[in-house]
Amino acid sequence: MAKAIEVEAARREVLARVRLMATEEVGVGEALGRRLAVDAVAETPFPPFDNSAMDGFAARAADVAGASADSPVALTIVDESRAGHPATGALGAGEAIAISTGAMLPAGADAVVRVEDTDRGPATPSGPAGAETVVRVEETARGPAAPSGPTDADAVVRLEGTTPGSATPRDPVGADAGPPPSPAGTAGRVLIRAAVAADANVRHAGDDISAGETVLRVGAELGPAELGALATIGLDPAPVRRRPRVAVLTSGDELTPPGRPLGLGAIRDSNSHTVAALARLAGAEVVSVDWTPDEREATRAALGRALGADVAIVCGGISVGEHDHVKAALAELGAEEVFWRVALKPGGPTWFGTRGETLAFGLPGNPVSVMVTFLTFVRPALIAMAGGEPASRRTTARLGAAYEKPTDRAHAVRCRLELDERGWVAWPLPRQGSHVLTSMLAADALALVPTECAGLAAGDTVDVELLDRASMGR
Ligand code: AMP
Ligand code: MG
Repeated sequence: MAKAIEVEAARREVLARVRLMATEEVGVGEALGRRLAVDAVAETPFPPFDNSAMDGFAARAADVAGASADSPVALTIVDESRAGHPATGALGAGEAIAISTGAMLPAGADAVVRVEDTDRGPATPSGPAGAETVVRVEETARGPAAPSGPTDADAVVRLEGTTPGSATPRDPVGADAGPPPSPAGTAGRVLIRAAVAADANVRHAGDDISAGETVLRVGAELGPAELGALATIGLDPAPVRRRPRVAVLTSGDELTPPGRPLGLGAIRDSNSHTVAALARLAGAEVVSVDWTPDEREATRAALGRALGADVAIVCGGISVGEHDHVKAALAELGAEEVFWRVALKPGGPTWFGTRGETLAFGLPGNPVSVMVTFLTFVRPALIAMAGGEPASRRTTARLGAAYEKPTDRAHAVRCRLELDERGWVAWPLPRQGSHVLTSMLAADALALVPTECAGLAAGDTVDVELLDRASMGR
């Protein structure tokens, strides 16, 4: 029997045969989980224009340099700049333009005063606008004149006189920012009660993204933030890789679909669910999930159909038993073997080959073996086919308890991860049988103990492959 191939060598053999999927244009709204087929480059800056970070009043910092609560500066409101509706004119000395968050900074302004720092802010805890408020404002205005501002007591009196009530849009809202300046409030004057420095509350064009900047690299997997970035730079639809099409085939006379009573010696088929779900999480489109009994003809017919996909994954029937027909059927169908048997436990009798551009995997049928070999060989291939970086999420941990093994093959040990003051600790789960599917429920990682390693002591460092949300969906 041919010598089993080492895990890393087997992975290299698989990746060497990966074919990149074609590019297709997909709307950003449908592109979650896809991978970019190009670099995403911004043509224009973002934000596209200087804009306000606050609801308030655009002004010249120099005009309000002396403003304070005791000595407010009055500015004449000449216009409004709302989000999506810029002001039409420019701002001159002694003038303010009411502005909303995200609205374009008007020409002539160099800062924004928050609405809370004006007499048009939200309600003070003392209550709604009214005569009392007006009196208070007038009293304030009679205080020391602002050194640089164009204000004087008369101006303030006029303000209150011309826009009674609306001059102080003090809706009884709590501590939240008040309503944005309303169109009704764009006439008259505003009292500025705090000085601002130049650039205060201004977000500059290109703050986030500059023109020509590469925002995402080719191969990037598109999650929520990436989709938002694509929308921001206007790359919609986006060129992404087609999802690899995967056919899943389970084999075995004993397998009974859910919903049918279990006959004597029968078990339920779990692999068709674990493998199809793992494939979807790896970015694939599962085009079929089929089953074949342990018969040569039926196996060949089902495999013939599966080989029409980009990737065919057959689970079980790949060993050397008298009723294992997968290997022979693959040969009859013209699939060329690249390797059979990997120095790995669980997952020894793994087969890999190609037919034309199709990758074919024969994974051992035990429920844990099938998952471990999928994660080790199939998942990297599916990621690479979509243009992604197939490196798995590896880190190191200290082993929580000693682990002994013969030196004939590598072990992928299901572990629970625990964080202590010195870092991650990997605790091997008690039941490591390749049929113990429930051990995968508790597993946070696979500790990879190399072939030549006879054992590790508690506290020794071990490579671990994370069974995280990306690979396992939880
Ligand atoms: P095989 O690789 O066909 O020799 O199967 C190895 C072990 O895995 C046997 O105990 C099978 O019953 C079991 N097995 C094979 N396929 C499945 C499946 N789809 N779901 C659950 N167990 C399976
Ligand atoms: Mg079988």
